[in-house]
Amino acid sequence: MRVPPTMAAGTVARMGSAATNVSAKPADGKITSINPATGALLGEVPDQTPAEVRAAVEAARQAQREWGARPVEERARRVARYAEVLMVHVEEVIDLLVRESGKTRLEALGMEVIVVADLVRYFAKHAPRMLAPEPIPLHLLKHRASYLHFVPRGVVGIIAPWNFPLAIPIGEVMMSLIAGNGVVLKPSEVTPLIALLARELYVEADLPPDLFQVVTGRGATGAALIDAGIDYCVFTGSVATGRKVAAACGERLIPYTLELGGKAPAVVCADADLDRAAQAIAWGGFANAGQVCASVERVYAVDAVHDALVERIVRCARELRQGDASSGAEVDVGAMAWDQQVATVERLVDGALAAGAKLEVGGKRGSGPGQFFQPTVLTGCRQDMDVMRKEIFGPVIPIMRVADEDEAVRLANDSHLGLLAYVFTRDRERGKWLAERIEAGTVMVNDVLATYACPETPWGGVKRSGIGRTHSILGLRDLCETRHVNHDRIAMPREVWWYPYRLGTFRALLRGAKLMFGKRFWQC
Ligand code: NDP
Repeated sequence: MRVPPTMAAGTVARMGSAATNVSAKPADGKITSINPATGALLGEVPDQTPAEVRAAVEAARQAQREWGARPVEERARRVARYAEVLMVHVEEVIDLLVRESGKTRLEALGMEVIVVADLVRYFAKHAPRMLAPEPIPLHLLKHRASYLHFVPRGVVGIIAPWNFPLAIPIGEVMMSLIAGNGVVLKPSEVTPLIALLARELYVEADLPPDLFQVVTGRGATGAALIDAGIDYCVFTGSVATGRKVAAACGERLIPYTLELGGKAPAVVCADADLDRAAQAIAWGGFANAGQVCASVERVYAVDAVHDALVERIVRCARELRQGDASSGAEVDVGAMAWDQQVATVERLVDGALAAGAKLEVGGKRGSGPGQFFQPTVLTGCRQDMDVMRKEIFGPVIPIMRVADEDEAVRLANDSHLGLLAYVFTRDRERGKWLAERIEAGTVMVNDVLATYACPETPWGGVKRSGIGRTHSILGLRDLCETRHVNHDRIAMPREVWWYPYRLGTFRALLRGAKLMFGKRFWQC
């Protein structure tokens, strides 16, 4: 496999299996990547400077000029090859995902690799239609015609979190490329190696090497990327950083998409299939060790089914096997990727218990060198507890008893976040009715999390959960400038409203306006 000179740090990924102890201090200007399940050092990457970031953007811009001029069909066909190369190296990619982020092998395959492969194939097939010029029927000026066309933005800067280090940024990278852009990706400092490996595969797929660059570093490198002349920014991360990114983009008038935090509620109705609801909630709360922006972060169970639901969720939680997936052991819940997040989860659980919540299962950090938090179920939670209001981003399911579905929906909407939400009921029509009343970018009825794996559906939040959408035709078109062309359909010497203004023209226009707009709306 070829490694581009600028990405020499990517070779670290392949050396990662020879792990040394994490206590080794990183050299100056370097960032270390560790296995969160063991604490073993996986590799080092450079903490890149603003000048290096600017050079990466400039290189991507040079390459984009030629790439963006190619027909979308050709771009799509070439990017489609990425899925094949990903499959050739699927074991290696899963292995690094497990070692660098602590997730299980099944999660690495199902929630990362397959998501990217399917997204690539989906947009390779449908982008030519989605980005084809779109006529706009004109309402008044019938002698003219309008259409939209979609032009690559230039260089897209992508700033990514650590929880899905492949699926989130590489999905966005592939969509940006098909849309005709160059890309510079700043992965999280917690998971840089997987981004570098993903770029190696990109080069192996015979795509233009300079067109997609990875710059490694900390938050300052992300800030430098926004300052490096990018034309669009796709940011995924916390609300707090999202505000800084929005301010920096606003100052430079760079358009952006923000995919921020979530606090997904699950509303469990009296007629819910409790076995399905409990399994869905347990998986939705514990998958990826709870580090999913769409995780079930609070449950509102109506009084009639509360106890039976809790009993089932607790049973699911007790059966889960937690451990180091990189050891080859079969585990259900892996390590948490970031040590500081473990402390946040611990603080929220301790706070809830101190405020009167009841611990049903879990509640503690795991023992051993790695970063683990036990799958935890809390009952007796109240809406004023931090655990019900702040993003947990760990394997914790807080449950609250409510009188009825109206109260559940009211409490579900009582949040500054609105990314995903879930409703459980056997009555599909009522489920849809409730779903439409919940303030979230996506509401799923009788399921959890899964729509991130549907590239055809929009992903994004309302309220403080974000601005704009990734995935779907909406997300693809956001990666383009939507431009408008208006042209004549018939040759005319002049328009009637041009100079010189004449009284006769005014009277004719007035007569026409009265005829057209004076009638009742429904008579038109
Ligand atoms: P952060 O906001 O801490 O970081 C996200 C990225 O921004 C990282 O690459 C980080 O770099 C970088 N960054 C930090 N400071 C700046 C800055 N001033 N300017 C530009 N970039 C900066 O988020 P986390 O990585 O902790 O991710 C967890 C969060 O992401 C959760 O809130 C979660 O809900 C959200 N998320 C949202 C998703 C969605 O689709 N809506 C999906 C997945 C996660 P570094 O890591 O090196 O500090």
